[in-house]
Amino acid sequence: MTQPYQDIAQNYNAVRQTLAQNVELVVVSKTHDAATIQRVYDLGQRVFGENKVQELIAKQAELPDDIRWHLIGHLQTNKVKQIAEFIDTIQSVDSERVLTEINKQAERYNRTIRVLLQVKIAEEETKYGLEIHETKELFHRYLAGDFPHVQIDGLMGMASFTQDQAQLHKEFSMMKHLYDHLSAQSALTTLSMGMSGDYQTAIKCGATSVRIGSAIFGARS
Ligand SMILES: *Cc1c(COP(=O)(O)O)cnc(C)c1O
Repeated sequence: MTQPYQDIAQNYNAVRQTLAQNVELVVVSKTHDAATIQRVYDLGQRVFGENKVQELIAKQAELPDDIRWHLIGHLQTNKVKQIAEFIDTIQSVDSERVLTEINKQAERYNRTIRVLLQVKIAEEETKYGLEIHETKELFHRYLAGDFPHVQIDGLMGMASFTQDQAQLHKEFSMMKHLYDHLSAQSALTTLSMGMSGDYQTAIKCGATSVRIGSAIFGARS
């Protein structure tokens, strides 16, 4: 359930205060309506993350134009064209096919789309994402000039759903290691890892961007 507005404002400010200046906050607004998102916008937030294309399109139409929308959920190739004109960042690039399509649609709209490669770090089988070797291969093709209308700015990952700090540490550190490895070939800016339950650990392991929903809006129903 979405919490009363005073609580959302309090939660938002509390989360902000725990983040260092150089850590980007992506507020994950999935399942919450435009009016609720507007309230967080009014507190100064401009970067919001959604995981479903239809929901994202509906909200984008209703909310201010200076919101920088991030897609954080699995993207089907045939839906790329629906968001290509306005999307700020696609964090969930999990295949060569979808990256090829993003590149194609970006060209159609005469723009460059910023993306992150989603890396599979969790032990759970259900999580989307590229294997480490696939991430390296895709990045090398990008460096070779295969996707001229996208800008790969970094990596995104979701850790296992666990409280086990050692496990989280292991998964986030694996991402950081890969990030540093790729950064040595071409500078990256964004390591997106950490959600409401694990963002403190993610930041300790090197996250530069966190995606936070329920710690601000309350648990989703
Ligand atoms: C829902 C979601 C989040 C935010 O999760 P919370 O636990 O509500 O903070 C972050 N990243 C992705 C990819 C998500 O789907």
